[in-house]
Amino acid sequence: MKPYLKRAWAEVNLSQLRKNVEVIRSLNSPGTEIMAVVKADAYGHGDEHVVRCLAEQCGIRFFAVSNLDEAIAVRSFAPDADILILGYTPPEYAHEIAMYNIIQGVVSTEYAEALAANTPDPIRCHIKIDTGMGRIGLKHDTPAACAAEIEGITKIEKLSVEGIYTHFAVADSDDPDNISYTDRQEQFILDTYDELVKLGIKLRHLHFMNSAATCYRNNSRSTLSRAGIILYGLHPDISLDIPEGLEPLMELKAVISHVKNVKPGDCISYGRTFTADREMRIATVTIGYADGYSRLLSGKGEILVHGVRCPIVGRVCMDQLMMDVSGVPEAKSGDIVTLIGRDGDDIITADELASVYGTIGYEVVCGISKRVPRIYID
Ligand SMILES: *Cc1c(COP(=O)(O)O)cnc(C)c1O
Repeated sequence: MKPYLKRAWAEVNLSQLRKNVEVIRSLNSPGTEIMAVVKADAYGHGDEHVVRCLAEQCGIRFFAVSNLDEAIAVRSFAPDADILILGYTPPEYAHEIAMYNIIQGVVSTEYAEALAANTPDPIRCHIKIDTGMGRIGLKHDTPAACAAEIEGITKIEKLSVEGIYTHFAVADSDDPDNISYTDRQEQFILDTYDELVKLGIKLRHLHFMNSAATCYRNNSRSTLSRAGIILYGLHPDISLDIPEGLEPLMELKAVISHVKNVKPGDCISYGRTFTADREMRIATVTIGYADGYSRLLSGKGEILVHGVRCPIVGRVCMDQLMMDVSGVPEAKSGDIVTLIGRDGDDIITADELASVYGTIGYEVVCGISKRVPRIYID
């Protein structure tokens, strides 16, 4: 028995993480380094183990997170890393950004000035350009105008501008219209960089590749590839294949707590949404929506039991759910079942589960809750 409560848990395979890093390196040009995106607790995989593995075993130096708390955590796991905060930090925390030697994404001149006004020490930053995502960043009609604003920011005392970056909105699409949209986003940031060079400003970093761009439109001018979802072996978009060798790290498992026979007319779970129309064997499983296994999977999801897919019947409860194991006579109390992962010849991926209830694999793995211990396998 392992040293954790055998109820619902996620197994995270670190040797697969190292393999995924090798695949991503093989996609990138020699001049492009991976910036490992480890926001949201490394997409639910656990930032401590993931960051330590990447920094100590894979030699990854660049990390990206969403906020200052995440950045400080990464700093404690990787003392020498370059850590970029992609999202917002209130300017009053500027001194902490400096103290922990974090790099802040800067979205406007106004924000740059507010940061500078709140710190006695210089702050490292990368300037974010909005080339079409419509979320955050400097927004201009021409690269020359954009470069002029960036030039102004580089003159702010206490700010050390090390790079510029942008984020693609549809790099995970093979629709021709979307491809040309991304082409324009890419061209804008490249031209902005070149305009800066004309102004005598040669920044060390220029980056625009996310996972999708790393897979489908790798460009040697991006000094960093901000790889998030492919690091964890999932698809930027389920409809497009990802390069061979990228495989998921996480499996989600739980246990059968009870098995019973039901008769026609017997009801299962809240709301009586399921009524048996024949004799069936129903098993109860020790996982529910409070573990991050969505209630939207009620009556829709499937679970692997001894390598056989068993349908969920009735509503997923907070801590438990029921499934039909009529097809698996050997299923019994105490058996381990697989909600995400491989069992025998079959596999249920987070991407597949996501498509069952209309979301993306990103949300499935990020949504596995704190109650679910992460168990690391190497
Ligand atoms: C989350 C994020 C990424 C990583 O995206 P993936 O699709 O997971 O690779 C890269 N850049 C920015 C700005 C992000 O917010």
